[in-house]
Amino acid sequence: MEKRIPIALAGLLNNVREVAEQDEKFSELIALASKLSAGEQASQTKNALENQSPQQMISIFDRISMNEEPRQNNFHYLPLAPLALDKSIIFAKVAEFKKPQTATYESLLEELGNTIIQTKDDDVTYLENLLVAMQRTTWCIPAAYSHSQLDVSLYDHNRMTSALAMCLAEKTAEEIGKLLGAVTRNYQNTPKENGDDALLKKPVALLVGGDISGVQDFIYTISSKQAAKTLRGRSFYLQLLTEAVLRYVLRELDLPVTNVIYSGGGHFYLLAPLSAKENLDKIQSEISKKLLKHHGIGLYLAVGQAEVSAWGFQKGNFPDYWKQMHADLNRAKRQRYTELKGDMHSKVFALNEHGGNQDATCSICGRESKDTEPIKTGSDDRHCGLCKSFAENIGKDLPKSQFVGLGFATPKETERKSAFDALRSFGMLVKWPEKNKIQFDESVERAVVWSLDDAENWPSVKGTSTAYVTRYTVNLIPMNSSGYPKTFDELQGKAHGMKRLGVLRMDVDDLGNIFSKGLGKEATLARLSALSFQMSLFFEGWLKRICEQAEYKNLIYAVYAGGDDLFVIGPWDKIPGLAQEISDSFAEYTNYHPDFHISGGMAFIGGKYPVYQAADDAEGILDMAKDLSGKNAFGFLEQPWKWDDFIQISYGFELICSIVDELDGPKAIMQLLRELTVEKANCQRKDGRLKYGPWMWQGTYRIYRMEKRAKRKHQDELAG
Ligand SMILES: [Zn+2]
Repeated sequence: MEKRIPIALAGLLNNVREVAEQDEKFSELIALASKLSAGEQASQTKNALENQSPQQMISIFDRISMNEEPRQNNFHYLPLAPLALDKSIIFAKVAEFKKPQTATYESLLEELGNTIIQTKDDDVTYLENLLVAMQRTTWCIPAAYSHSQLDVSLYDHNRMTSALAMCLAEKTAEEIGKLLGAVTRNYQNTPKENGDDALLKKPVALLVGGDISGVQDFIYTISSKQAAKTLRGRSFYLQLLTEAVLRYVLRELDLPVTNVIYSGGGHFYLLAPLSAKENLDKIQSEISKKLLKHHGIGLYLAVGQAEVSAWGFQKGNFPDYWKQMHADLNRAKRQRYTELKGDMHSKVFALNEHGGNQDATCSICGRESKDTEPIKTGSDDRHCGLCKSFAENIGKDLPKSQFVGLGFATPKETERKSAFDALRSFGMLVKWPEKNKIQFDESVERAVVWSLDDAENWPSVKGTSTAYVTRYTVNLIPMNSSGYPKTFDELQGKAHGMKRLGVLRMDVDDLGNIFSKGLGKEATLARLSALSFQMSLFFEGWLKRICEQAEYKNLIYAVYAGGDDLFVIGPWDKIPGLAQEISDSFAEYTNYHPDFHISGGMAFIGGKYPVYQAADDAEGILDMAKDLSGKNAFGFLEQPWKWDDFIQISYGFELICSIVDELDGPKAIMQLLRELTVEKANCQRKDGRLKYGPWMWQGTYRIYRMEKRAKRKHQDELAG
């Protein structure tokens, strides 16, 4: 790794002139990587930093168009400010600063410069800290590589340059020189030379995708009894496992963290040199063996790949390779365990070596296991090592801690017991801070501290070089007064009137299509990276701010939020308003772009209802919303509503809740809502679109009557 780091660093800093005098191959390598990252001819200036008047960056959402011509003016701009979970920072605005933002640029660069001059860490950690600092400070500075539109950040352009430089480094100086010539002629539309076409179509890098399947069943297939205690821990464990597997792949391929395009929600994407191809099968088979040992056939890592040529990185061409890699991922999922070859059968089919004994069944996940023990002394309920660690080692500490320490050491065989043993087998140790200090149980090569929100007071790690990474996570669990997670029974007690929970699932409509077609001829690797970064910033970050508002405070249990979807549980009366707010906020976040919208579905459950069934119910209702033409809808009371129509209900929602509360008559109100729903649907069917029909005024009248009755009852009670 050590000899590769300078290449990654030079790529990240993208400083051609610095290295030019030292080594011709090196400078041509960075120049070529930078051209492939941009996917088009550079403008006259190398980047915006050298521009006469520094400018702001255009929101990537403004560049998407599915049906109409892409937007040509009235762009939305990101502010020039260090990245933070603040509305004034992550929401783009119409107004563009007219004056040059020189001073702002300088202060951002000063912050970056402060990181660059820190040299006490080892090279690998230094690179990761630099990457983090670049994200924080240059996520909003346009790379200004393209002629006209400033929509790719220096951060995205430079990290992809670094990744490509690592891929190209195994080529000879001569090959790099020739390819650089061919790419330059191609971008400039100058006459081609003999052999240019063949060179451009020759693979230069491997696009690798990893996807952990079985995630949904793994999280949700648990008994309802201990659900609130372990659900969040299970979900966070999958985030940790994705990281452990990704870091294991990077370690085995000898690649730095700059080669990762995106990771989260059980999957990751990275760029690797072509030579990685011969090792990938072996690496995947090692991962399968570890997952089999610790999770049986419940969790499986599928790996897909696609070779990308220089031509493939040219703008407009990349989505085809993205699709190709995903097709290969799907093939891998269908042919699972083929990578284990000869010893496949003995591994996969020798799993249930001790079945049938009631004592050995975990009452949370239902798995038969040797290591179960009673949940409490004298209790008949037993939990397995894994479930115990989800509840006690992760579930209990996670809601209280903003930080988590990850230590990295040589992977080693571990016995199947706790979640931490599984992670350790991939070379990752996990430790929560105590009194703002992190101390791992064994010595580690290096450490990474994750902060799950914006941080100031980072914990220290003793004796190990450490990277400090902000990893936004919606880490919300309602707590009771004794500092423990509320049970779902306790949580539903917070609902008005009817004591029920609302289970909410939401995801972005047609996002796959947007990724493959939305950028049209402008699609490049850097732009797709920017799009996935912006999307996850909303679901992994901003969603937390929405749920933290006073009316939802300590009421929302975030089971999962990441990528482009979410799953939360809360008192039923809070959930429709929350769903509406998320949809509205997403519309604003994506600059009210007509191609970006989100659908949701809510199911009612009781606190003892099985979680997997609740997950299924909410998904079914979400599907119902998605079946509505144009999607952009919410499934509620077994009926899909366009968000605009749903507002009609939500206006009366507080009134409804107060009536339910006063009359203690949830059945009556539910009945009324169901009837109104049917009437509304009838109204809609008659002339194709919704009109203001009797269902509205009848509803209003009946609600009014109920309110009167409720008030009278209340007064009688007071008088009596
Ligand atoms: Zn278990």
